[in-house]
Amino acid sequence: MQKVDVLVIGAGPAGSVAASYLKKQGYDVTILEKEKFPRFQIGESLLPCCMEHLEESGLREAVEAKNFQKKTGAAFMRGEKRCEFLFSEQYTNGWTYTWQVKRADFDLTLAEAARAKGVDVNFECEVLNVDATLERQITEYKDVNGKIDHIESRFIIDSSGYGRVLPRLFDLSKPSAFTPRGAVFSHLEDNKRTEKTSNNIFVHSFDNNKSWIWAIPFSDGSTSVGIVGDKEKIIELAANDGEKYKEFIRGFEDLNGRFAESELKFEPKNILGYSVGVKTMFGEGFVLSGNSTEFLDPIFSSGVTFATASGLLSAKMTHKHLQGEVVDWKTEYEDVVQNGINVFRSYVTGWYSGDFQTIVFTDQIDVEIKNQICSVLAGYVWDKSNPFVKKHDTILPTLAKVIKIKESQAQ
Ligand SMILES: Cc1cc2nc3c(=O)[nH]c(=O)nc-3n(C[C@H](O)[C@H](O)[C@H](O)COP(=O)(O)OP(=O)(O)OC[C@H]3O[C@@H](n4cnc5c(N)ncnc54)[C@H](O)[C@@H]3O)c2cc1C
Repeated sequence: MQKVDVLVIGAGPAGSVAASYLKKQGYDVTILEKEKFPRFQIGESLLPCCMEHLEESGLREAVEAKNFQKKTGAAFMRGEKRCEFLFSEQYTNGWTYTWQVKRADFDLTLAEAARAKGVDVNFECEVLNVDATLERQITEYKDVNGKIDHIESRFIIDSSGYGRVLPRLFDLSKPSAFTPRGAVFSHLEDNKRTEKTSNNIFVHSFDNNKSWIWAIPFSDGSTSVGIVGDKEKIIELAANDGEKYKEFIRGFEDLNGRFAESELKFEPKNILGYSVGVKTMFGEGFVLSGNSTEFLDPIFSSGVTFATASGLLSAKMTHKHLQGEVVDWKTEYEDVVQNGINVFRSYVTGWYSGDFQTIVFTDQIDVEIKNQICSVLAGYVWDKSNPFVKKHDTILPTLAKVIKIKESQAQ
């Protein structure tokens, strides 16, 4: 039986970052990935904070060489209202840009870069079962030829994303408190891009803040366009090869005809009920990272950044453990990841309640406040010097209330 130091399940951003970091520390690392790459994945708009994780795991240069669409900010719109954030103006001293990527290319780039560093990356190998103790784990998988094989490891990092391998096998998932929502999306030809619309992601809120549209321009002239809303709405939009999705995108007034005649690059895909929680992020001989932990909602594009952040931190803790040091997985790992998730939870809640929109669409948003919010949108949710991080659970509703009172007094 093959023996390795660390087995990583899944070659998404969390897996490649974790594997690459551990390889740098001199470990024997194997990734088992179910799919053949390149493969489609949703999650195309990154946050600047993930650049730190790509850098530290030695993967940033490979991505930088790919000419992905640079993302320097994000715009939010509702009807006539527009609020544009630029990462160069953010409060935290962090990265001022990142990328918008087709995940097929991005994830392949990361996996190939990890392989070039010596990680043993195996595509079309599906993990079926894991028998784990603190000292050693035996993983059963189906290889590329359909043969069942086993691999022994000293530690496992589960980065299986939506596959949720260990949460499924060890009954670790728990339901999300969010309303079940879904998304329907495709890539569209985008030859009406203008200076004004820019190349950065934009998001339109509609349906009284219950639904929204994303548009994520890519460097090849196409744009990812998705609609998010309550599950029932998405089922309706996705029916009959996305007939209503196409009608909606082409006719949606606030898009000013940008996609009115655009060709779709593929028939619309949809995903439903993606929000999920987890009872614990670690156990005897394993840790969960990325979407295997908790996934909230796509609105603030935080998924890949959480994947790279938790991928990197899980690798650092694994390194410490394999060196024989005691790791307090609860405080050194789970609480750190959970704190970041909790900050975004407040913003997701604020988005669907409309408090976030009340703040950003007010006529005179305070510059300092805007720049502090901008840092959250850049992914710097661990910077406790930022009041919009530190007081994340109260600051949005409080501020929205004050703005509403002021606006009603001004009328
Ligand atoms: C509608 C929607 C829009 C989104 N938009 C954004 C966005 O704009 N920006 C953003 O940052 N995030 C976005 N996300 C979130 C993003 O998709 C995820 O957070 C991100 O892909 C998580 O990365 P990961 O590495 O944890 O997992 P994944 O990217 O899911 O990778 C996991 C890998 O594990 C493999 N795997 C699964 N099961 C097994 C198995 N049994 N054996 C071996 N391998 C296995 C899979 O094939 C996959 O390649 C969005 C999510 C949704 C639902």
